[in-house]
Amino acid sequence: MKIKKLSIASLLLSAMIMSCTNGAKKNEATQQKKDSVVATQTEIMADCFADIQVLRYDVPGFADLSLKQKQLAYYLYEAGLCGRDIFWDQKYKYSLTIRKTLETILTTYSGDKNSEDYKKFLEYSKRVFFANGIHHHYSNAKMLPDFSFDYFKELVSKSDNAKLPLEGMKIDEFTKMLQPILFDPKVDPKAVDLSANVDNVKASAGNFYEGVTQKEVESYYAGLIKKGEKEQPSWGLNTKLMKENGKMVEKAWKSGGMYGAAIDKIIFWLEKASTVAENDVQKTTLEALIKFYKSGDLKDFDDYSISWVGDTASRVDVVNGYIEVYHDALQKKGGYESVVSMKDLEATKRIAAIAKEAQWFENHSPISDNHKKKTVKGISAKVITVIGECGDNAPSTPIGINLPNSEWIREKHGSKSVSLSNIVYSYNFARAKSPTIGEFGASQEVKDRVAKYGPLSGDLETDMHEVIGHASGQINKGVSTPDVTLKNYAGTLEEARADLVGLYYIMDQKLVDIGVSPSIEVGKAQYDYYIMNGLMTQLVRIKEGDNLEEAHMRNRQMNAGWVFEKGKKDNVIERVSKDGKTYFKINDYNKLRDLFGQLLKEIQRIKSEGDFNAGKNLVENYGVKVDQALLKEVHQRMDKLNVAPYMGFIQPKLVPVMEGDKISNVKIENNESFMDQMLRYGKDYGYLPVKN
Ligand code: ZN
Repeated sequence: MKIKKLSIASLLLSAMIMSCTNGAKKNEATQQKKDSVVATQTEIMADCFADIQVLRYDVPGFADLSLKQKQLAYYLYEAGLCGRDIFWDQKYKYSLTIRKTLETILTTYSGDKNSEDYKKFLEYSKRVFFANGIHHHYSNAKMLPDFSFDYFKELVSKSDNAKLPLEGMKIDEFTKMLQPILFDPKVDPKAVDLSANVDNVKASAGNFYEGVTQKEVESYYAGLIKKGEKEQPSWGLNTKLMKENGKMVEKAWKSGGMYGAAIDKIIFWLEKASTVAENDVQKTTLEALIKFYKSGDLKDFDDYSISWVGDTASRVDVVNGYIEVYHDALQKKGGYESVVSMKDLEATKRIAAIAKEAQWFENHSPISDNHKKKTVKGISAKVITVIGECGDNAPSTPIGINLPNSEWIREKHGSKSVSLSNIVYSYNFARAKSPTIGEFGASQEVKDRVAKYGPLSGDLETDMHEVIGHASGQINKGVSTPDVTLKNYAGTLEEARADLVGLYYIMDQKLVDIGVSPSIEVGKAQYDYYIMNGLMTQLVRIKEGDNLEEAHMRNRQMNAGWVFEKGKKDNVIERVSKDGKTYFKINDYNKLRDLFGQLLKEIQRIKSEGDFNAGKNLVENYGVKVDQALLKEVHQRMDKLNVAPYMGFIQPKLVPVMEGDKISNVKIENNESFMDQMLRYGKDYGYLPVKN
């Protein structure tokens, strides 16, 4: 199964890197975008803590929707939030206990709230909210509190015990139970552990399996696959697999099953939404999703996905369900998510121009002819304005989405690719403040070029990654899907492949010819950034001594590291040391493009042939190990810049205006603080018990 999300780090420049110390800045574009319903200017920079910058985004155009469309968006938005607890529980089985404990302390603690310890507790709570659990949203590593266990006990004892999720325990037992979970670095240290030569199921903290080994899981699902049948469901996508009385049992996430209490609320709002659907296709799609939530049958999920792909006419759209699989080391279990959006009619024109030429791009790709698609099908490209996100998509969000994930549905029915324009806008705004390029850019020419073309080249790379990247190439007849053949390397290789399609074409005159790029210089700006980030700046996200775990980070280092090494004999990229600082300077952009093409060809071959060993070697040799001296240098240089490496968002709030019992309008409010939003969500959408 593929990973379809771009992390924010694949944005050009250091989108994710900006100063924590900047004061809140006004969103200058709010004035330009007069159609926004936000009465006052939205403060984009909202909060900053630890390694996180929290932003806001506007929803331009929302006020222009019809009342029916606004109602539809509102119902879908509520449906999305109702599943928030599911994602928390999926990530870790103690997540809800921990969150409810933090919420209780935050709202009822009667002790000193001005102490240094309490500030540390506040920061820890925000970090946990941001990550939907105690494992870092990006690095997957467990986040340890900066305060002591004794202080934690004091916090608990001076809070309203009636509101704690004690489950019959006494306070002492309760805090003792939480001690290793919160404070012991050796207990469940990683949300997802993709290391070679360990049991990836046992080593991962995710709540997708219990009492089973990786071998047992693999043989269980291998047993479900019907040989020779292509149109199979994504086995295991919506269940927890565990052993009961020595037998393997799947607990389905459905109405009446695991997570049923939250799912029934989701269904309630989806049913309302289906009554105000924009057209019959959308109505059928929403009904199919409701059917799936009721039955838990993956065949129903496929029917829903097929119907959803076919709905290209609706202005308001939604992604809702168990979608991306990268929280599971074996890439089978779907994390709950929701994205409610509306088409951005203006920006859609750019991405459509690229999608229109998809066959040209496929035909001219450097991959082997027998790995090319004869007809590139159903890429429906559009740019969307996000209205609200939840679960796996919030507070940290993708900037591009390409769904559905099922290979055979993609091949037969196509896929929808979207780029999230208002999210990207907020990033660009924050990025404009970033001092990172000034520190790491290899020359003044590079810095000037990135300043001039950075935002556009970031948009184009994202567009191509999603629209022609993931959609290109085909798997040889008789070869299984990448989750089966490439296993834990599938995600990294797929993201690498999509990145490389974008990198190969961003230097192509074709983009200038079809009117989406003013100059080849745009491509150079992307190369400058990609090499700088892949070989250096992204390292700020990991600790000294660590290697790379996350699929996107692995893919970027692999791509950049491979072309660096292969280009050495021609000095394509030069490693320069100046005043004790390292820079990577590109000497030959055309040769670099050729190298990206060669690597694309090889990774496509690996996917098409299912060559596990070649895939493993590429990732392990180039994508995992980190140059520790360089890592140390990056941290030292970044520390001086005082930057927060990650960004995420506060969601706008949709507020229905009532006339009697009828909704007469839906307004957007965008002034809630991050903490207030997290506490409100916990209070209003906390539908699941702490034990599921
Ligand atoms: Zn991707």
